[in-house]
Amino acid sequence: MNLKDHIRGVPDFPKPGILFYDISTLLRNADAWQVAMGRLASVVRAYQPDVLAGVESRGFLLAAPLALKLGCGFVMLRKRGKLPGATIGLDYDLEYGTDRIEIQADAVKPGQRVVVVDDLLATGGTMSAGISLLKHAQADVVAAIALIELTFLQGRGRLDVPFEALVQYD
Ligand code: 5GP
Repeated sequence: MNLKDHIRGVPDFPKPGILFYDISTLLRNADAWQVAMGRLASVVRAYQPDVLAGVESRGFLLAAPLALKLGCGFVMLRKRGKLPGATIGLDYDLEYGTDRIEIQADAVKPGQRVVVVDDLLATGGTMSAGISLLKHAQADVVAAIALIELTFLQGRGRLDVPFEALVQYD
């Protein structure tokens, strides 16, 4: 199955000139969803993670069921102010302005093998911030995984861990 057949390109979203790759069409198709999860599971399993860290919010949709499938824990990398209790966070640059990504301070144990999962890698800013934050929390970040990679933005060059994606657009 070609997963690209199930990913919809939406022009001019969220602003003019941007082609947004929408995974809703993949998730709503039982066969495509199953195939994507099976392929992601094979890729992620090879890194023998203890924990999968999902990036809010579409990363959760992939990381949580993958963690169940692989028998791993699941932790949330969330936007500012969403997590209860003590948190640690990192500010990172967007095209205009900055954003902040946070985890609970006790989300990972030192040395735990963590794979970070998101739906899509564009500039790599979000993934790179998530990796840095987990490393700051003393996790052993063994890989970063996305369903989709926008290769023309060269985001993987910003990552200091192995990166794999199922589908590339260039
Ligand atoms: P980056 O930080 O790599 O520039 O952007 C990646 C983040 O933005 C991911 O969390 C991803 O969910 C979101 N994102 C950016 N562009 C798209 C897109 O075209 N489709 C989807 N599904 N997510 C996108």
